[in-house]
Amino acid sequence: MHAAQRTVEKDPPLRKDDWIIITGAGGFIAGNLALYFSRKGFTRIRAIDKKPLYEWYLRVPGVQCLCLDLSLEDNCRRACEGAVEVYNLAADMGGMGFIERFRVECLRSILINTHMVEAACRAGARRYFYSSSACAYNTSLQQDPNVRALKESDAYPAMAERGYGWEKLISEQFCQEYWHERGLKTFIARFHNVYGPHGTWDGGREKAPAAICRKIVEAIDHNDLRIDIWGNGEQTRSFMFIDDCVQGIDKITHCDRLIATPVNLGSSEMVSINTLVSKVERIAGVKLQRTYDLHAPQGVAGRNSDNTFIRQVLRWEPRTPLDKGLAITYRWIKQQYAIRKQGRRVGIG
Ligand code: NAD
Repeated sequence: MHAAQRTVEKDPPLRKDDWIIITGAGGFIAGNLALYFSRKGFTRIRAIDKKPLYEWYLRVPGVQCLCLDLSLEDNCRRACEGAVEVYNLAADMGGMGFIERFRVECLRSILINTHMVEAACRAGARRYFYSSSACAYNTSLQQDPNVRALKESDAYPAMAERGYGWEKLISEQFCQEYWHERGLKTFIARFHNVYGPHGTWDGGREKAPAAICRKIVEAIDHNDLRIDIWGNGEQTRSFMFIDDCVQGIDKITHCDRLIATPVNLGSSEMVSINTLVSKVERIAGVKLQRTYDLHAPQGVAGRNSDNTFIRQVLRWEPRTPLDKGLAITYRWIKQQYAIRKQGRRVGIG
């Protein structure tokens, strides 16, 4: 699992005017990452997404924003021109409703990472970050809501989530071999559900925390105090707040011990979906009547992040309490809902 025999040479210090490339930046996590690096004082950030610019959640002032389809090799080369660090977060993805229904689309994201890692290597980039997922883990270990937290070695023997999870696993392999064979320092984080402001909250690709916040805002607005929940509500997950996620990406990408070594990046605060609903109800100050859609997509029965490895290497792990992150997220979604109701444009992914 650990960075192998290849000698790790020390990089020159990263300068504030070195080019940082961030893909998928019209989306949730990469948009927040561009904001994070901009706030840290980096002056040459190139943000790329295939979505038209008016659909981006965040357009950070001073950041170069390009609209390019990165499943095409030439566009990846253009994206990586002058790159010192590359953060590849572009992927066709969504919540369970999306990834169970559009497996081909999810698998096709393999084109993005294949071309991006090659382009980054050719451009002479020093570091390459890849956003993998907990969906890469063996699904047979996630059949019970009281699941044991997943540690990095649980991805093998492989039985990833169909479509999306296998694409992540193969892309991880690309990253690992680009280090072993070609010397590109690659970094791989397996994200566990990320939530927070400036992400998808409607339209079919949203994940559980955003969907629940939106449904509660809607129920209050329509004065119809009911909520439908996908599955029986007993499925368990952990949820990482976006601020922890972007900080974690930075820490992982600048830790040579983690070269070509997948690491969990997630919260270890596991809750059931029912508990998640109760938390948002408390924030919103309502109590809703629940109905359960047992035929809706619901993914594995239980999943949590074992943070032993990240704690050991970085002496850090995501720590924002779910209650705190959810309150911030609920407020943002409520605001977006109000803006849309006034007929103004909001990004919905
Ligand atoms: P997102 O959908 O908000 O952002 C992904 C962006 O990639 C989108 O804006 C999309 O337009 C863009 N994209 C897709 N195909 C592209 C292409 N061919 N060329 C250029 N851009 C393209 O998703 P997110 O939640 O921000 O996820 C970012 C990354 O993190 C993804 O790789 C995802 O698989 C991974 N991840 C996310 C979570 C989570 O909970 N959000 C969990 C595990 C892994």
